[in-house]
Amino acid sequence: MKISNRKRVLVTGGAGFLGSHLCERLLDEGADVMCMDNLYSGTKDNIAHLLANPRFEFQRHDITFPVYLEVDEIYNLACPASPIHYQRDPVQTTKTSVHGAINMLGLAKRTKARIFQASTSEVYGDPEVHPQTEDYWGRVNPIGVRSCYDEGKRCAETLFFDYHRQHGLDIKVARIFNTYGPRMHPNDGRVVSNFIVQALKGENITIYGDGTQTRSFCYVDDLIEGFMRFMKSGDDLAGPVNLGNPGEFTIRELAETVLEMVGGPSQIVYRSLPHDDPKQRRPDISLARQHLDWEPKIPLKEGLDKTIAYFKTL
Ligand code: NAD
Ligand code: UDP
Ligand code: UDP
Repeated sequence: MKISNRKRVLVTGGAGFLGSHLCERLLDEGADVMCMDNLYSGTKDNIAHLLANPRFEFQRHDITFPVYLEVDEIYNLACPASPIHYQRDPVQTTKTSVHGAINMLGLAKRTKARIFQASTSEVYGDPEVHPQTEDYWGRVNPIGVRSCYDEGKRCAETLFFDYHRQHGLDIKVARIFNTYGPRMHPNDGRVVSNFIVQALKGENITIYGDGTQTRSFCYVDDLIEGFMRFMKSGDDLAGPVNLGNPGEFTIRELAETVLEMVGGPSQIVYRSLPHDDPKQRRPDISLARQHLDWEPKIPLKEGLDKTIAYFKTL
């Protein structure tokens, strides 16, 4: 039974990069926050500054196992997000997306909680539609090295929409495009963290392939604002909704920008392209603009500046 009228929010994956920023924002808005994480790719350092807050609670738990709690809202972010982390134990990655989604949906069903899913632009695979709109079904290899993540997330979307249709669950499915900022794991191999760490150490900047592949990079604060607006939107908007920054850059442009901003002796070197690496990626965010009145505000250089400052403190 609930006596207080403060909102009780569960954030799975709350000790990760995005999750820790989300917990912080929810606390700022006055919610009681339960952060659940098995610390597979996240770390307690990301939430150390929140532990003293009496409205914040950390629970070490793997969401592939059932959990019984009383909650009003759920943000399901648990899942390793960087290719080297999600490919280390691919079976566990699929389990986290699929069994984890079933457990969180079961919890949402029992508690009648609104539930948010952190889906991904990876559901579009290596896309032949550009920029990607939500009605594009994607081009995903079902048996490749990225499939544990891509297909796991696609199956999670299926489960969300089936619980919505079959059990009337109040769902919010966001397709997140590449996001960067402070608290990215320095060794997780993602391009922004890799390039900044390499430049700061004066090591070579490793471009995979010829660097003509593109990505669109969203600063974390912009993304979290999108989460909040989506979660507060009317229950007729289940999604999927793309959230990302439509500014598109080649990986070579990113390398040159980071090098110019950090300075130092680093040289750009070329390495082989990983399997199934998408050639291009840019969100069409018309839906988010129209329904959430949301668009990213922070340009790449400003976001990189804040991210470089963070990596300098490590
Ligand atoms: P992250 O790896 O920093 O965070 C994921 C968190 O989930 C980690 O703290 C990890 O320990 C935890 N976790 C993993 N498996 C778990 C399990 N079975 N039970 C409980 N906790 C578990 O990654 P992130 O960048 O913060 O990504 C958060 C979410 O957003 C992920 O679902 C990811 O797929 C999605 N996403 C992120 C991006 C991005 O660019 N950062 C893009 C698209 C989608
Ligand atoms: N579940 C959970 N917490 C809850 C309710 C359910 O972890 O508060 C899990 C439980 O393990 C179950 C899954 O969510 O298997 C799906 O729940 P649902 O009610 O949809 O299915 P059922 O219990 O009928 O299999
Ligand atoms: N990449 C790169 N050098 C690196 C790390 C990544 O050139 O040190 C490339 C990678 O091959 C991909 C892009 O940068 O084309 C984005 O990689 P990331 O792993 O950050 O995200 P994702 O591929 O999942 O979008």
